[in-house]
Amino acid sequence: MPNFVFVLDTTKKPLNPIHPGQARRLLKQGKAAVFRRYPFTLILKEEVTETPKNIKLKIDPGSKFTGIALVQENQVIWAVELQHRGQQIKDSLTSRRQIRRGRRGRKTRYRQRRFLNRKRRDGWLPPSLQHRVDTTLTWVKRLLRYCPINSLAVELVKFDLQKQENPEIEGVEYQHGTLYGWEVREYLLAKFNRTCQYCGVTNKPFEVDHIHPRSKGGSDRVSNLTLACHDCNQAKGNQDIKDFLKGKSDLANRILKQAKTPLKDAAAVNSTRWKLFNSLKKLGLPVETGSGGLTKFNRKGLKVPKSHWQDAACVGQVSDNLVFRTNQPLLIKATGHGTRQRCRPNKFGFPKSHAPKAKFFRGFQTGDLVSASVPKGKFAGQYVGKIATRFRPSFVLQLPDKKFDVHPKYLTLMHRNDGYNYAFQ
Ligand SMILES: [Zn+2]
Repeated sequence: MPNFVFVLDTTKKPLNPIHPGQARRLLKQGKAAVFRRYPFTLILKEEVTETPKNIKLKIDPGSKFTGIALVQENQVIWAVELQHRGQQIKDSLTSRRQIRRGRRGRKTRYRQRRFLNRKRRDGWLPPSLQHRVDTTLTWVKRLLRYCPINSLAVELVKFDLQKQENPEIEGVEYQHGTLYGWEVREYLLAKFNRTCQYCGVTNKPFEVDHIHPRSKGGSDRVSNLTLACHDCNQAKGNQDIKDFLKGKSDLANRILKQAKTPLKDAAAVNSTRWKLFNSLKKLGLPVETGSGGLTKFNRKGLKVPKSHWQDAACVGQVSDNLVFRTNQPLLIKATGHGTRQRCRPNKFGFPKSHAPKAKFFRGFQTGDLVSASVPKGKFAGQYVGKIATRFRPSFVLQLPDKKFDVHPKYLTLMHRNDGYNYAFQ
């Protein structure tokens, strides 16, 4: 089932999204035209007044991927997985820094001293993290233009122990089966760094282990809990940690000490998420917040598999009869808008070549999605793909399996390069 289709009326007012089948009918009857390919949006040829439905935009921000889902009443109608480019930004800034450092070391003429005027604004984030906030916000604003969204929801923290700062000290207890247990689980996962404390295995489903077993009077307090893989938990059974780790008293002491130490606040509070939350609030729509524990609780309750977009649909308050009307999220990959660097250095930082300043050639730029109809020759036929300009009337058309040269007169623009790559799952 593909995503629902966005619809604008002729005055570009967003209307309720429609089923893809209905969109096909409207296009066939000539009542609508394609307004935009990604996200797929139609524009009607008349003005329409209708009552907008309750549509909530839900966001699950992550470090590499951010999931976004649109939930209308109890139906998930549209979803996207947004892939960030934080690592690329970091790499290119490192490269620039190293090249500058080398250049300044070479040219050692006298330089006047600078003032110590380099300050960072309040709320400054490293560019690679700021980019996550910016791309997510770009897409939220874009969706607000095409869809009558009337509220937002975002996963703000990984776990929420009802704002008790020191769960160990205040005696919070782990109750199985309730939402509270899920928050404690997320807390333990962060505290013990997603590692089995007994054998050190990672990347496995973990269980909550009572250090001093309950059957022998151990409490449910968070300071008596640790993380173990299934095998270790089974092997330990109802033994005390001292008996289970006989001969490994170093390990036992370390686990006991770490269990008593509360996790630093910083681990629960993620500056990028807070920045996103504060930016979303400025959009003027009500913003609901949720925790990672709640998302997981909802997802397990609905028996939904784990993915970024399905997590997004489970953020915050969720009705227990949530229906997924889509299972093909749009996959968006942030690619950036090229480089401003004109001088291309080699790996030692010496100038190698010079890039032209112009971006466009005959109305096209690198990365535009085009349809090509080549009338004759070896590559005659109809194609859809991205082009790369070479600043002469011969573009490289990149197809999944091959690439060849085409003259711009055979090209029609389908989607202008907007800094993202699009695909479907
Ligand atoms: Zn283990």
